[in-house]
Amino acid sequence: MTLVTRFAPSPTGLLHLGHAWSALLGWRHAREAGGKILLRIEDIDTERCRPEFDAAIMEDLAWLGLDWDGPVRRQSEHFADFKAVLDQLKANALAYPCFCTRRQIEAEVAASQSAPHGLLGLIYPGTCRALSDAERIERIAAGENHAWRFDVAEAARRVGDLTWIEEGQGIMAVDPLVGGDVVLARKDTPSSYHVAVTHDDQFQGITWITRGQDLYPSTHIHRLLQALMGWDAPAYRHHGLLVDEEGKRFAKRDRALTLRSLREAGKTPEQVLALAEKLAAQI
Ligand code: GLU
Repeated sequence: MTLVTRFAPSPTGLLHLGHAWSALLGWRHAREAGGKILLRIEDIDTERCRPEFDAAIMEDLAWLGLDWDGPVRRQSEHFADFKAVLDQLKANALAYPCFCTRRQIEAEVAASQSAPHGLLGLIYPGTCRALSDAERIERIAAGENHAWRFDVAEAARRVGDLTWIEEGQGIMAVDPLVGGDVVLARKDTPSSYHVAVTHDDQFQGITWITRGQDLYPSTHIHRLLQALMGWDAPAYRHHGLLVDEEGKRFAKRDRALTLRSLREAGKTPEQVLALAEKLAAQI
């Protein structure tokens, strides 16, 4: 089987050294295995994503010499595909409308005192899961603002135990409840990251995923979606996150170590990749 991997940044800021490291890992793995690396621009959050950052991603990768295979996929051009997944989950009673505001959820979690935070942040207490179909229909018809949530317990019941292969660690057991009933779509974001990323990994035939350790908890949700939809399970390698000399994680809001600023400061692509490699060796 040919190895197919991808680099899938979100154009919400300029790429930094951490991105260079992530892209390099995927690129190197693909090239060594005689496989492919695809570039996917994850721009479903139309509020935060900007065309100039999209262009900068391509410029930075080209400058680093990290090329990609085939056309670039931009998720904002494929909302209909993600909606079809959501529609299927709704039709199978695996997604339900949630009318709670963030404030209501926080208040309920504070009052309940039971493990309110999971690996993916606040765990939704499931309030709207109990609504009747009649009430759901009525409130939607009345134009009440709502999100669509994933009924993870029901999903887990249908697909049974799941695992994934984590490179270097072996077989990991999926904990389907790790993030609670996560949001699959909202009014302003018609698809969540979870739906878009799993759909596209299947659509693009991705067999191996390298991405930051911060996305590790999401993999539990992704395996659940993949199993429900009858999609293939890629292998994963979640890499450690690079930190700067003060031990701080790189963030898009820090201007200092963006690839663009390093380039403008006269660094060569080789020096930048070597620096990423050096920092990666320290984590
Ligand atoms: N678009 C995500 C990010 O920039 C990465 C998604 C993934 O690799 O699964 O954080």
